[in-house]
Amino acid sequence: MSNAFLRERSLGRIMSGHPWVYASDILRTDGGVEDGAEVTVRSAQGVLVGTGFANSKSKIPVRIFSRKAEELDKVFFRRRILAARDWRRSAVVSSGLPLAADGLPEGCRLFWSEADFLPGLIVDRYGDALVIQTLTLGLDQRREILLDLLQEIFQPSLMVERNDAPSRQFEGLPPRKGIVRGEGSPVREVRLGWIKLEVDLLEGHKTASYLDQVENHVRIGELAKGLRVLDCFSYQGGFALHAAKGGAARVEAVDLSETALATARRNGERNALPDVEWKTANVFDDLNARLRAKENFDLVVLDPPSFTRTRERLPEALRGYKEIHLKALRLLGPGGLLATFCCSHHVSAETFRAVALDAAFDAHRTLRLVRAFPQAADHPIIPAIPETEYLKGFLFQVVE
Ligand code: SAH
Repeated sequence: MSNAFLRERSLGRIMSGHPWVYASDILRTDGGVEDGAEVTVRSAQGVLVGTGFANSKSKIPVRIFSRKAEELDKVFFRRRILAARDWRRSAVVSSGLPLAADGLPEGCRLFWSEADFLPGLIVDRYGDALVIQTLTLGLDQRREILLDLLQEIFQPSLMVERNDAPSRQFEGLPPRKGIVRGEGSPVREVRLGWIKLEVDLLEGHKTASYLDQVENHVRIGELAKGLRVLDCFSYQGGFALHAAKGGAARVEAVDLSETALATARRNGERNALPDVEWKTANVFDDLNARLRAKENFDLVVLDPPSFTRTRERLPEALRGYKEIHLKALRLLGPGGLLATFCCSHHVSAETFRAVALDAAFDAHRTLRLVRAFPQAADHPIIPAIPETEYLKGFLFQVVE
C-alpha cells in the first residue's frame, strides 16, 4: 500500500478525527498512489494516522475511513454498515418515532457518509426500498460489493441509485441514477413520522425526501393542536400534514414547486386529514401579501433551502434569513410560535439565533427560546467533523 505523509500543521486536525486530507496537508507520498486505492496516512515521522482512499481528481485527494491499517473489503464494509444500523436502533428509541419490526423507522437514513466513517456512502431506507449514493471514487469503484452487502443485510425489494448529486462532479464522477437491484415501482408509499407519504425514489429531492426533518415534523404535530399554522417552504407537506394530524385549527402551506404541492395534496388525501390550503408561491412575496391582508397565525414554520452553498455568499444569505424571520414574526401575536430551521453548515447556530434576534428587534417583539430542535438521530453529529452538524432549529415564542 502506498503512503501519504502529512505536514506537521495538519496533523492535529486529522488525528483528532477529521477525515479530509487536502493536497496542502500532504508533505509527500510514496509507492505511486492509485486513484480509488487505499493509502496509508502517516505523520512526517512515519507514525500511522489511518487509512484512506485516494482520488487525484478531487480537492480532497485522500479521505480517511479508518484510524487503523485496513483494507476496503467486504468484511470492513459489513462492520461499518452494521455499526451504523446498531447505533440507530439504540438512538431512535427515544425519538418518539413509530418504529418498524426491526427497531428502525420505516423511513430513515441508515448510513451517512463521514458521520458513519465511510466518506461518500449514503443509504436511505423508504419502506422496503433502499436509495444509495456512492459520492466518492473509492466507494463508487466498490459499488457492487456494497450493493451485495446491503441486499444481504436489509433484504430490500428494490434498490435505487441516486448518484445524480452535484458533488459527484468534484470527484470526477459522472451523474447516474436508476434502479440497480430488484424491481417494482420507484414511487412508493412510506410512513414518515405519523403520516403516510408518497415518495418518488428517482425524482424526489435529495434521495426522495427530507429524512433529516422527520423527527421535527413529529414535534410540530405535537404542539399544533388548536393553532392556526403556516408552513413556509413546505415541500411535500411533512410539517403541514403533521400539524393537521395533530389537530391544528387551520393549516396553510407555501412552496414554489407545483409538483411538490401536488404530492402534498395527494398525501393529505391518502391520510384522510383535514384540508390544508396549499399555495404555490415564492415565500418572500407570499409573506408580504399576508401582511398586507393583515393575516394572523399562531405557529409559523420556516424551513427554507440552504440560501448559500459557499461562505462568500453568506452576507446575502443572512439578509434572506432575516427577511423571512421579520415577516413571519409580524404575522404572530403575543404567545405566537415561530419554528425556524437552517440547513446551511456555513451558518452556525449562534449566527442563526442572532439573525432571529435581529429580526425580532426590527419587529419590536421579545422572544422566548422555548427549545432547540436537535439534529435527527439518524444524522449523527461527529464533533471532530464540524461538517456533520448542519441542521439547526429553534422554537421561539413571542412574549410581547
Ligand atoms: N419543509 C420541507 C423541506 C423544505 S426544502 C420538509 O420538511 O420536508 C425547501 C423547499 O423550499 C423546497 O420544496 C423548494 O421547492 C422550496 N423553495 C425554495 N425557494 C423557495 C421560495 N423562494 N419560496 C417558496 N418555496 C421555495
